[in-house]
Amino acid sequence: MIEFKEVEKRYPNGYEALRHINLTIDQGEFVAIIGLSGAGKSTLIRTINRMHDITRGTLTVDGTDVMSLHGKSLRKFRRKIGMIFQSFNLITRTTVIKNVLTAFVPDLPWWRATFGIFTKEEKMKALEALDQMGILDKAFVRADQLSGGQQQRVALARTLAQNPQVILADEPVASLDPVTAKQVMDDFQRINREMHITVLINIHHVELALQYATRVVGIRAGEIVYDGPADQVDQAV
Ligand code: ADP
Ligand code: ADP
Repeated sequence: MIEFKEVEKRYPNGYEALRHINLTIDQGEFVAIIGLSGAGKSTLIRTINRMHDITRGTLTVDGTDVMSLHGKSLRKFRRKIGMIFQSFNLITRTTVIKNVLTAFVPDLPWWRATFGIFTKEEKMKALEALDQMGILDKAFVRADQLSGGQQQRVALARTLAQNPQVILADEPVASLDPVTAKQVMDDFQRINREMHITVLINIHHVELALQYATRVVGIRAGEIVYDGPADQVDQAV
């Protein structure tokens, strides 16, 4: 469903962060992208939802040429793709439920978005997503009162509320302690297996990548140097 063909990404300053990327990811896969800091993992993942534009080659998602999307079509496309960050990206000074409800904002008429007016269905859906992540009891707690692991679960609930086909995660467990990191990886695994959502995760922690992903893509200096099953990763990366 995600297909890179000879993709290159050159930043405006001329730096070539991705070169000759050829990669096909099928619906339902759990892929870990590994590589050293600066290898291009973040750039790669962020081209998929057009946070970054590619500068050569083609990138398609479900047959749609991602670079052909603009304005409304780009916004609609992005709804299919959930994004999870290392720093959780929550609105920390408001409640968990309000954070999850922000998932619906792009689809609201302006006046509902402005005044934060949500329907009963939207509220139920947000609560359901929190329930799926096991943090329903935190719905009315302020986000900044939660632990890091709980905050990442709120971010996951917010993403699930938009019914994504794919979740892109950029170092989602890098700022968590080892035990919590595993719990959050368990959550990604459950989401992948039970909801059949494709998961693409940047992770510099190789053991976690090997433990959870079914496929590993190794990147070095902007190029793919390994692509295969997790149990056959050697010293390539
Ligand atoms: P990783 O996620 O593997 O740490 P990144 O994709 O963040 O790597 O970065 C890859 C390379 O591209 C790095 O050398 C980084 O400094 C460079 N880079 C990232 N963003 C920009 C930018 N906006 N302009 C120029 N170079 C950038
Ligand atoms: P992260 O690790 O969270 O991706 P970084 O510190 O790598 O954050 O990058 C922060 C921001 O700076 C990003 O928007 C990235 O694109 C940009 N950036 C990174 N490296 C460079 C660079 N060499 N030149 C210009 N911008 C860069």
